Amino acid sequence: MVRFTVLASGSRGNSTVISGGHTRILVDAGLSCRELFRRMRLAGEEPETLDAIVITHEHQDHINGLAVTARKLGIPVYFTEGTHRAWMRWIAPRRQMTYAQWLEYCRKQSAGQQAEVDAQAVEAEPDDHECEAGAATPTPPSEAAAGQDSEEPPARKEDPTWLPAVEYFQAGRAFEIGGIQLSPFTIPHDAADPVGFVFRAEGVRMGFATDLGYIPPNVKAQLKGVDLLLLESNHDLEMLRDGPYPWAVKQRVLSRVGHLSNEAAAEFLENGYDGQAAYVILAHLSENNNLPELARVAAERALNGRASLLANRLLLAAQHEPLSPIDF
Ligand SMILES: [Zn+2]
Ligand SMILES: [Zn+2]
Repeated sequence: MVRFTVLASGSRGNSTVISGGHTRILVDAGLSCRELFRRMRLAGEEPETLDAIVITHEHQDHINGLAVTARKLGIPVYFTEGTHRAWMRWIAPRRQMTYAQWLEYCRKQSAGQQAEVDAQAVEAEPDDHECEAGAATPTPPSEAAAGQDSEEPPARKEDPTWLPAVEYFQAGRAFEIGGIQLSPFTIPHDAADPVGFVFRAEGVRMGFATDLGYIPPNVKAQLKGVDLLLLESNHDLEMLRDGPYPWAVKQRVLSRVGHLSNEAAAEFLENGYDGQAAYVILAHLSENNNLPELARVAAERALNGRASLLANRLLLAAQHEPLSPIDF
């Protein structure tokens, strides 16, 4: 059985569980580990059965609970290299060394490197309490430790960028995690190397495209022939224009690397989409610049001509509660 469960969608956190082919993956970890586990159980999914986490891009609403969740479960995280690097820059504590400290650090690192690797491997066991505490971000090394003469590299457990395993993928190159095939494609968004996906398991194809400023031809081509389409419907143009955001933020959201409006999503559903999906899920709705009814009406109108008993059942993903699991 193939199952698609949106746990959360929106600028306060995004996470979806996809299972099929005896494999279960989490797409984005935008909720705290504790909330992620709570919602998974609410949706009838056991967190301990997750095989991997896949990240679309490094914005906080997609990675907030990543490190804690991956460590807690001891599972690999799949990124593009650009996204992984951006995530590490975001999560690493800002720390400055004097030139003398840096030289000493390099000297110590080259001496006894192997001994440290062995010692760290022992310390890398996940901490059972870190998820229960609900911490979304690991604690950075304390100020006192940073100021000491000793400039040993931090133990893995204290290294906020440490993950049980990291795997790289590239947009345009399909790969597999167990029984799920993933086809990542580039999306236009203001992140280091953002991607959307088509997931395929047991012959079911699921298209996944949020956080994109517009729908370029490569994305249109990818989203053909899917059985499920999760598509961003972020804002209503008028609500955004008249809304509370500062001008610069409005410009960013509206830009070619921002977010997809209800109008743009509807335009695609009417003219760019093949009408084949059994389910169309509107996602990443803005809480400030959109109303679920506006998003729904725009999409319904666009899908009107395609009404079929078997296709295009329209659903809205929510921020504060999981969507009922969709089974194939
Ligand atoms: Zn986002
Ligand atoms: Zn984003």
